[in-house]
Amino acid sequence: SRKHIVAGNWKMNKTLPETQALLASLKDKKNTGDAHVIVAPTAINLQASVTMLQDSPIQVAAQNMHQAESGAYTGEISAGMIQSIGIDTVILGHSERRAYFHESDELLAQKVNTALAHGMTVIFCFGEELEDRKNGKHFEVVESQLKNAIFHLTAAQWSNVVLAYEPVWAIGTGETASPEQAQEMHAFIRKTVSASYDEATADQVSILYGGSVKPGNAKEIFSKPDVDGGLIGGAALNADDFFAIVNAF
Ligand code: 13P
Repeated sequence: SRKHIVAGNWKMNKTLPETQALLASLKDKKNTGDAHVIVAPTAINLQASVTMLQDSPIQVAAQNMHQAESGAYTGEISAGMIQSIGIDTVILGHSERRAYFHESDELLAQKVNTALAHGMTVIFCFGEELEDRKNGKHFEVVESQLKNAIFHLTAAQWSNVVLAYEPVWAIGTGETASPEQAQEMHAFIRKTVSASYDEATADQVSILYGGSVKPGNAKEIFSKPDVDGGLIGGAALNADDFFAIVNAF
């Protein structure tokens, strides 16, 4: 069966002391279920996070990376740099990267290629905007995001891909997709992967839901057959809340 994953995307939150304090609290928590736990602090705190979590099953991921191997890209971080501090997972395609930093499907395809060429695991984010859903275009939008950025991969490469469906209208708004809306889209995503690849590839890929997941709604969302975990923003910044979500599995 598929791996359950609960990942915390800390976004641009937490200084180094705050990061260390939160990680110390997380390390003390008991994981009572079967979810694999990931945290994604901001880039400058990744190395300290890896050090602090050395003897913990909690894994560290980066929030973003550049597509080039190295070179004159001021302010950017490469796959090799991330790996050299002991991290092998990167979040790519977050809607905030797409909206505020103009990351296109084409650029994301390059980033995905670079990460996978390095043997990294990619948590690939995508999802429709409110306008798309109002116009009944959400399936179409999601399908094109997947086709444009990751459907060029070989079936074998999919073992290093985790999908994260994050409807933009549900991110940081307090408005979640209903468990039924999440399930409907996740089933559609799996069907689309199956149609472009094969059933085995579609069956093994973990599809996470993201968008206002909280301790109070996690259990119901995670109970849906095609929801394999969550990508958590706001609620990942508090150890009690985050582990209440982790333990919803
Ligand atoms: P919130 O949980 O704050 O809605 O954020 C979701 C998200 O964007 C995770 O990547």
